[in-house]
Amino acid sequence: MGDITNFAIPFFLATLIIEVALSIYGNRESYTKKDTFASLSMGIGSIGTSLITKGLKFGVFTFLYEYRLIEIPMVWWGLIALLLADDFSYYWFHRMSHKMRYFWASHVVHHSSQHYNLSTALRQSWTGEISGSFLFYAWMPLVGFDPLWILTAQSINLIYQYWIHTEVIRKMPRWFEFLFNTPSHHRVHHGSDLQYLDMNYAGMLIIWDRMFGTFIDETKAPTYGLIKNISTYNPARIAFSEWGNLARDVYKTSGILNKLRCIFAPPGWSPDKSTLTTEELREKAN
Ligand SMILES: [Zn+2]
Ligand SMILES: [Zn+2]
Repeated sequence: MGDITNFAIPFFLATLIIEVALSIYGNRESYTKKDTFASLSMGIGSIGTSLITKGLKFGVFTFLYEYRLIEIPMVWWGLIALLLADDFSYYWFHRMSHKMRYFWASHVVHHSSQHYNLSTALRQSWTGEISGSFLFYAWMPLVGFDPLWILTAQSINLIYQYWIHTEVIRKMPRWFEFLFNTPSHHRVHHGSDLQYLDMNYAGMLIIWDRMFGTFIDETKAPTYGLIKNISTYNPARIAFSEWGNLARDVYKTSGILNKLRCIFAPPGWSPDKSTLTTEELREKAN
């Protein structure tokens, strides 16, 4: 999380308390103590790891910026281009995080809660940046976006995604639902229901999903979490367990090609079909 993200923390906590109060008042079980503390710990841990990885990322972007095609000024059109470019990169980073187990090993953390509330937004990976998620943005300094502004745009995107992690807001006005990522669209993304799996990857703008064929409307209440849920609230285990599973599967699988498939195929892929990918699950259901 970035510097401006730190300024957003008081706002995060205040709204989180309001949502907890609403959920108690409404007698809805959207919060449980263990789950919330696990999510908060993941958020704090990700701030800690980002202190290290942010410097590394900034170094790489600054190096690439030396070879920029043009210099994009931070005037109104430059800012719009920056936010669009960042959000576009986020879409592809997020989509690949669901389609390649190597990136999924980090991203699974964000999907590991069976609850959906503002604290879920803070349930962030500790290993995303160090495992190379920033590579999806590496084209931006080459084109001519200032590295400092790229990091700022990433923070803005992350802050935007906070408020959409709620069940309190059902639907936004139609024009807004058409253009922007909303609580309704993102609830779908956290659903483990077959029709909802690997859909609505948007960061701020839902238009990317509409353009690239990954959009689905919320038609029924999602079942939050993973196909196979984790059974721990221990932050370190949440952060690293899928890396452990991946290493174990690579070790167990014979043949170099199949070992590589373990790493680069979609999550769920297995040589003996003992576990299935989203696509295989859909084929089976049809
Ligand atoms: Zn996701
Ligand atoms: Zn989310």
